[in-house]
Amino acid sequence: MPYADLEKRVLANKQWRLAHREELSKYMRTWNANNRDKVSKNKRLSIQRAKTRAFEVMGNKCNRCGITDWRVLQIDHVFADRRADKHLIGHNICHYYKKVIDPVNVGRYQLLCANCNWIKRVENKENGKPQIELLQ
Ligand SMILES: [Zn+2]
Repeated sequence: MPYADLEKRVLANKQWRLAHREELSKYMRTWNANNRDKVSKNKRLSIQRAKTRAFEVMGNKCNRCGITDWRVLQIDHVFADRRADKHLIGHNICHYYKKVIDPVNVGRYQLLCANCNWIKRVENKENGKPQIELLQ
């Protein structure tokens, strides 16, 4: 084996990739175009894994009412600063899920069910519009 040492192998691999950047990029574009099903499936799996991991770290239940049905659970921005993550949510949701569980961001996110999330939005006037209430 030419590189028994892992660090040397990783470095050699990185150098090779840099030296062959153009052809590697061309190869990957062609491979991706010819394997759309695999690319799509792998992307879905990556998102599923990242979401599952994020939900596990966040306790797998609503922070207010305790419901555990993952179908209604949502990641809530505690300080209603969703705009800061808009670019991640729209383009790279896996990075968003990783950011959510990053220890640097403890307390910025919480898991809420859809009902509790909407109730929180109304209570904190996070919609930015005057709330129309039902007549009593
Ligand atoms: Zn809830």
